[in-house]
Amino acid sequence: MALTAVYLSAEVHMLCLAYSLCTEKEETLALLLGHFYEENGKSYARVERCLICSRKDKRKDRVEISEEQLSGAITEAEASGTSVVGWSHSHPHITVFPSHVDLRTQKSLQMFDQRFFGLIFSCFDTVAAGAERIQLTCFQTLPDGSRAEIAIHITPSETFLTPDALSILVHTLPYTLLSEERQVHDASVAADPSSPSRSSSEASPQTIIKQSYHGATLIRSLALLSDRLVNPLVRFCEDRHARNLQEIERLKRETVGP
Ligand SMILES: [Zn+2]
Repeated sequence: MALTAVYLSAEVHMLCLAYSLCTEKEETLALLLGHFYEENGKSYARVERCLICSRKDKRKDRVEISEEQLSGAITEAEASGTSVVGWSHSHPHITVFPSHVDLRTQKSLQMFDQRFFGLIFSCFDTVAAGAERIQLTCFQTLPDGSRAEIAIHITPSETFLTPDALSILVHTLPYTLLSEERQVHDASVAADPSSPSRSSSEASPQTIIKQSYHGATLIRSLALLSDRLVNPLVRFCEDRHARNLQEIERLKRETVGP
């Protein structure tokens, strides 16, 4: 049965959007966990959690979910009593509509469950000076390969930020991006034909310069991540903690009374 609508929790929406806004040059990928259910003969999906996935292929419009990522998500979903119901990826600087590659990927995922769906967050789309437009679409692929738009509703979360979501925001997300930078560095070093198998003390000056270049590039990437992502997240947590302490004090005063 085809899907009628998707109900996405505000918390998952916030996490997917935060991940999408982390990188302006590459598309980001997440898997969505939740439940499918039937009501009045129609089929719906409710999304409760998301799993941040690292990108294996960083070329434009090449978002692919590896078998390991899918199998890991299925295991995690089963452990939490949910199912993998959809996937989400970002379109930085490009239209929100799915590409032919996206529609093909979606079609193959629908073979597991015909209710499986895809989300796309379009971001970094400058519509006027100083104004950015963020768009979200939910889609499936029809048998003829064309796009079917699925209604999506964002539902309020019961709590502002659950421990699970906070952990994704301040740990999983930076860790995933930092790991990707290290993988890029390791791959660059391994692909360099002058990389020595011998110790650096025996390396030629040219090799030492190349190693220094790879190391400096990694340090620059890590510094940028720290400046643009980790530091703002730490400030966000500190502000939130300060507001919580103020709220506790206010409630204590109200409880005690004048
Ligand atoms: Zn895409």
